[in-house]
Amino acid sequence: MQKLIINVRLNEWEMRGPNPNIPYSPEEIAEDALACAAAGANIVHVHARGPNGEKSHSPELYAEITRRIRAKSDILIHTTLGNVYLEGDAADRVKHVEAAMPDIATIDIGSTNMDRFDRAAGRFETTKQVYENSIESCTYFARVMKELGVKPSVGIWNVSFMRTTAIFMEMGLLEKPALAKIPLCGGDLVAGHAATPEGLEAFFHAMPSLDELFWCVCTKYANIFPCAAVAIARGGHVAPGLGDYHYAELGCPTNAELVRRIVAMARDMGREVATPAEARRMLRIPARAEAARA
Ligand code: ZN
Repeated sequence: MQKLIINVRLNEWEMRGPNPNIPYSPEEIAEDALACAAAGANIVHVHARGPNGEKSHSPELYAEITRRIRAKSDILIHTTLGNVYLEGDAADRVKHVEAAMPDIATIDIGSTNMDRFDRAAGRFETTKQVYENSIESCTYFARVMKELGVKPSVGIWNVSFMRTTAIFMEMGLLEKPALAKIPLCGGDLVAGHAATPEGLEAFFHAMPSLDELFWCVCTKYANIFPCAAVAIARGGHVAPGLGDYHYAELGCPTNAELVRRIVAMARDMGREVATPAEARRMLRIPARAEAARA
């Protein structure tokens, strides 16, 4: 079986709340990325945040994050796709990728509703949080990233996104092997499948082969370990992190502590973990000598 990819999701747009270990500033993000690399992660997924943790799409902040991490580690760097919901046009949404030149950037390859259901109140917290990613925009993102030499990581929220990924591979818009992330959804977020082994297994009938698609599972607002076990057993890969869930039941650990637990689980299950250099080779991502542009 392939060596395991661990793509640690440091922060997303999550606020610290009960777990103070979520990094916000470029310094904190870089420091956390290094700790996760030492713990065994081979890819670090980052979102730029303002001083109080607010969302930021600043190309300069992304460039600073990339520069700081790359100066001290060979861990692969994976930035988000810009401007969620209805803000901004396609060109604006990849400006931070052009500025930061990460190894990997996300393309969420379809549209879905991001509203969360408040079970206690019996209603949705919001009702218009449409995460819109048209085929036209996704095609544009794939072309821009190919020109830049940045590997896309496709976000696959539903089976229809998996089918679109297979078609993009067939069209040559995504090179093989493609890289994907499957965000499963707990906490009454209904944007994707449930964050359970069954929710993950529901993708399997539509998945390209393991050689053609390296898929990582992550679990928004839910503990990843049951789904991580399924991914490790089935040849998939794992994307844990405080950006998705605070892990109060584990005493609010750091990202590096979560990575160490996934590494131990993989070893117990007989699966080796790739080094960053091995992950780069597996995904056919060229070494990146040039520094970030901004
Ligand atoms: Zn993200």
